[in-house]
Amino acid sequence: MGLVHSIDTFSTLDGPGIRTVIFLQGCPLRCRYCQNPDTWSMANASAQEYTAAELIKIIRRGIPYFRASGGGVTVSGGEPLLQAEFVEELFTACQAEHISTAIDTSLYVSTSKVERVLPVTDLFLADIKHIDSQKSHQLTGLGNQLNIANLCLINQHNVRLWIRYVVVPDLTDNPQDVTAMAELVKTLDRVERIDLLPYHALGAHKWDLLGLDYTLHRTQPPSSQQMNDLAQLIRSITGKPVYWQ
Ligand code: SF4
Repeated sequence: MGLVHSIDTFSTLDGPGIRTVIFLQGCPLRCRYCQNPDTWSMANASAQEYTAAELIKIIRRGIPYFRASGGGVTVSGGEPLLQAEFVEELFTACQAEHISTAIDTSLYVSTSKVERVLPVTDLFLADIKHIDSQKSHQLTGLGNQLNIANLCLINQHNVRLWIRYVVVPDLTDNPQDVTAMAELVKTLDRVERIDLLPYHALGAHKWDLLGLDYTLHRTQPPSSQQMNDLAQLIRSITGKPVYWQ
């Protein structure tokens, strides 16, 4: 059984084409900008258990849209690889029906979990939270060793890899840190593109509802000029396409 936070049957933001997105419950990180703190705990009473067969029935309804748009299914979260065995079972069933599979993951999980899903995953949408491990700890609660090691592991396999990087003023936008992040990505030849995600405070009210202390109330979203400048910097170092919305 998989513990599911929610399902979006028509997303255009979580990988190529039109996708059904399964948001799985549970996350080991505590990112200060998290929009979905209600996904953190495995004890969330509103999360629902599903079998892979039950989810496949829902996913199948999207097949005409997947075929027309080059889409498929994405598991997100939370951190979907906390339930790696379930993802493996679900993706095995998807691939048997020629449905493309993607994982939106922080990669702050044990390498054995990544290895479990590698054979059944077509695309990884992989976060780099912070290139500096100490700053990663301040931002997410954990250092970045697992994230970097898992990225390098994925890069050795025949899968598609997109990088996601959240730009948070004063936390992740230092040009030296962004340069170091881009230097790492340059060495990863499976990376097809980098998506920069501008920080925004849309999830802040959920922190308040859960009685959590949101520390970024005073942080403003980055300007378009800053996003363009960082995109250009990363493009110039990596030689890869960089997008932001
Ligand atoms: S990895 Fe995602 S779900 Fe987990 S805390 Fe960070 S932003 Fe939130």
